Amino acid sequence: MKLYSFQLNGKERIGVLIPGENRFVDLSASNPQIAQNMLAFIQAGQSSMDLANEALDSHLKVDLKFEEVRLIAPLTRPGKILCSGINYRSHLKENPRATLPKDPFFFAKMPSAVTGPGETIKLPKGSEQVDYEIELAVIMGKAISDAPPEKALQAIFGYTILNDVSARDVQFKENQITLGKNFDTFCPIGPCIVTGEELRSANQVRLRTYLNGEIMQNGSTADWLFDLGYLLSFLSKVMTLLPGDIISTGTPAGVGLFRNPPVFLKSGDVVRLEAEGIGVLENRVSAA
Ligand code: MG
Repeated sequence: MKLYSFQLNGKERIGVLIPGENRFVDLSASNPQIAQNMLAFIQAGQSSMDLANEALDSHLKVDLKFEEVRLIAPLTRPGKILCSGINYRSHLKENPRATLPKDPFFFAKMPSAVTGPGETIKLPKGSEQVDYEIELAVIMGKAISDAPPEKALQAIFGYTILNDVSARDVQFKENQITLGKNFDTFCPIGPCIVTGEELRSANQVRLRTYLNGEIMQNGSTADWLFDLGYLLSFLSKVMTLLPGDIISTGTPAGVGLFRNPPVFLKSGDVVRLEAEGIGVLENRVSAA
């Protein structure tokens, strides 16, 4: 199931795309028992999916054309967002400072940095080196703590695309990784959440980044250093992962910083991220 968050008459709602058609079912309007926003929908667990399936089968469903709605981030206020640092062989190779990690490396992005498809990435005044990173991100559906990999994988609700926008000059100056990764609008996610049963193999997803139409990143999650079960299990030994948390899985080679010459985002640029089986997340860049 492809779940979208959108705004209609100033209110947040949830829609399901009808495969092969340019329209979706407005779940929130089809059955008032269905949670009105994605976080509540995920937190309600299996009953949300049951009600959603019922709404899709029902002739009472409310249809909307895709162009009629304004998409927003599929999860506008997620729980915590943990991002894996170096997790692709290709990205490890392009980074002259990196060595093969023994354990996964994580840092946090804040919910306040989240923005949606079609929104603007704002260049902060304090940085000249803003970069893009396409990532496959997981949305948790169940709470897990100290979970083995198989159990951790079963706790996944779905998948989305995350742009781990990074101000390199801030990130690397005195190791300010948290600040360099957390300017407002530095965490575009979307365009939708593909539920776990629909995206069968997360470790075979083709990821492509285009900057103003030119391909910059072209990788596959098959290149991961640590697989998804291992990443989630590793994190769950430190902190409880909760429904609505986002775990992002790192970026393949081709980031702007390691290109020769380096490429950084400037006002007017268009960053287009494509993930097979999920869709397209596109954002324009502008001065703050
Ligand atoms: Mg990253």
